[in-house]
Amino acid sequence: ARASWMARLKQGLSKTRGNLAGLFSGAKIDEALYEELETALLMSDAGVETTQYLLESLRQKVRRERIEDAEGVRKALRALLADLLRPLERPIDIDAAQPLVMMIAGVNGAGKTTSIGKLARHLQREGKSVLLAAGDTFRAAAREQLVEWGSRNGVQVISQQGGDAAAVAFDAVNAGRARGMGVVMIDTAGRLPTQLHLMDELKKIHRVIGKAMPGAPHEVMIVLDGNTGQNMLAQVRAFDDAIGATGLVVTKLDGTAKGGTLAALAYTRRDRPIPVCFIGVGEGIDDLQGFSADEFASALLD
Ligand code: GDP
Repeated sequence: ARASWMARLKQGLSKTRGNLAGLFSGAKIDEALYEELETALLMSDAGVETTQYLLESLRQKVRRERIEDAEGVRKALRALLADLLRPLERPIDIDAAQPLVMMIAGVNGAGKTTSIGKLARHLQREGKSVLLAAGDTFRAAAREQLVEWGSRNGVQVISQQGGDAAAVAFDAVNAGRARGMGVVMIDTAGRLPTQLHLMDELKKIHRVIGKAMPGAPHEVMIVLDGNTGQNMLAQVRAFDDAIGATGLVVTKLDGTAKGGTLAALAYTRRDRPIPVCFIGVGEGIDDLQGFSADEFASALLD
């Protein structure tokens, strides 16, 4: 299963990969190779700062380890990238509390609803009963989608027409405790990327969850579209400032040319990394996996 997953990740990242992996076919290490690498990293939306860091580290490594051919440079870059990404690895601890309360946020279209479905399935597989709170009280369609999805998959859904999102979250946490659920997952309304300042409602939901269960939410997951590019950094900052992110879900890594943004996420937040707990590589219910730095670096550069 792991091998086929790797093949899919590699295939999914082929647009990002295409710019990078092709550069090492020549035998020589020269200034042109570094320049092409710089362009490829910038095109993958790694950003200027992270690109410079990677290239400078690469030059040092090549000198120090007396690497003499392009193939050696490729391996060196893969190792540097994996080291850079490693602090982003963290599987969630699903036994940290009972119920484990997860709050899910993200901009519209990031893949929030899809990821919640995938996550619920994943948690059920791990033996957890799951209760969902349809906290997107703005869009009736979003609520109906979740309710319908829940009934198909044996997942209970708390929803309330036109209700207050914080009230739905409060009810869900209480119901989760009363029913002895393993996990309570709370969806929230998406914000437009331009409305990131509309965070007061999210703060209120977060606060109310803590009132229903001290210490909750135990996980605050921000769902990010892997095609977003550098703007992803601003999204992470905005959500983290408002509700303190414990982890990220990066979706749509199948078919993005901007896979380099994860390196930027690791480098620009190296003092306080927010881990990538899951990545999405397709629209199907099983297209969700934990994040591995080695696998990601390998998918880009092997
Ligand atoms: P929301 O507005 O954040 O709830 O986003 P949705 O969950 O409705 O997803 C928006 C679109 O992105 C839908 O068409 C999903 O099928 C699609 N989507 C979500 N995750 C992935 C993924 O990992 N890969 C691909 N290819 N599509 C995805």
